[in-house]
Amino acid sequence: MNRLEEIKAVFDSQGLVTNADIAALVAALEAALALHKPEGGPSDPACCPICVDELGMFADELGMFAEAYPCPTVTAIQSALGEGE
Ligand SMILES: [Zn+2]
Repeated sequence: MNRLEEIKAVFDSQGLVTNADIAALVAALEAALALHKPEGGPSDPACCPICVDELGMFADELGMFAEAYPCPTVTAIQSALGEGE
């Protein structure tokens, strides 16, 4: 069981979350968001370069614009946090 699964298991069974758990969760999200910054790419100066590398060749096939920002990773995090579009 990884750290996230442990935090979820304790929360689900006991309704308990510690300050250390919250700090770890925030740090994990901040680490992901720090990687997915709009730093520019081939056709858009405001895109996420990581998602361009990972999704660029499939972007058209999926009908997604991988170079757009917020990228799919940031959008997923924002959605999970309950942030609007
Ligand atoms: Zn990204």
